[in-house]
Amino acid sequence: MSVPTSFHTYSIPMRTRFRGITVREGMLWQGPAGWAEWSPFLDYQGEELVPWWRAAQEAAEVGWPDPVRRSVPVNCTIPAVDPERAHAIAAASGCGTAKIKVCEPGQTVADDLARVEAVRDALGAGGKLRVDANGGWTVEEATQALRQLSRFELEYAEQPCASVEELATLRTGLARRGIEVPIAADESIRRAADPYRVAELEAADVAVLKVQPLGGVRACLEIAERIGLPVVVSSALETSVGIRAGLALAGALPELPYACGLNTVALLADDVVGAPLIAVAGALPVTDLVVDSAALRRCRSDDTRAAAWESRWVQTAELAGAGRG
Ligand SMILES: [Mg+2]
Repeated sequence: MSVPTSFHTYSIPMRTRFRGITVREGMLWQGPAGWAEWSPFLDYQGEELVPWWRAAQEAAEVGWPDPVRRSVPVNCTIPAVDPERAHAIAAASGCGTAKIKVCEPGQTVADDLARVEAVRDALGAGGKLRVDANGGWTVEEATQALRQLSRFELEYAEQPCASVEELATLRTGLARRGIEVPIAADESIRRAADPYRVAELEAADVAVLKVQPLGGVRACLEIAERIGLPVVVSSALETSVGIRAGLALAGALPELPYACGLNTVALLADDVVGAPLIAVAGALPVTDLVVDSAALRRCRSDDTRAAAWESRWVQTAELAGAGRG
């Protein structure tokens, strides 16, 4: 199978290094149902790329279910920056919920505490705070860190440890110690062979769903229905095109008890639409996008990267079984 006749490969710097990424790359194209983004992180490969590909195919070829809401509350995202910068980002965001990166390599729990304290100060007592460790703590480290962080009344801690078993052990241990921090599973769902193990092992209180790694909006709606946990829709640091797919999911979920992690376009130095999906007053609208051709040209990656993405696309389409039979 060949790549779409008209595709665009983008390369956009991050404003601040986030999860080790300094430049975001991906492919965009327009199908009969709308614009699609395919932007699997570079550490994903082989079969892992197929769900991302299916999500893009859904956006281009099928489109999305009808929404049940037109506005989605979202959190601001605070990278592993110093407290002054964290305070400024949270205060400027207009969001009542903040997700704060913790457990950054080279930093300490003291850095995390200072950053979370600054964000608590910026959002006030009514603000909602969640932290994301991206699986970086051991059970013991997570217990110690969350014991201290719990004084800032966290809404939840996202992926404090790497494995589902560790999350289950941590969750039981926190309850036994009276440390009231709910656990959210992110990587344990999107990079797992079986996303339902988190529920079976009672390893989390909240499920974080991301459209691209989980195979599309409909695939996520099915997981949300079967997993039996409240769901938070988060991004994979996409341009507004990819974020729009996340909004389609958040817009179609029967219940949406938490703010979603879809307000990440501001982490990118540029975007490909005329009106980027950056939250106003803590919410994003579930509306159509207008992709801007001048912006597509501005964000275009060089020929070497474009060729690499094209070949990645072709290999993944083959793995997905497209065009066979
Ligand atoms: Mg996460």
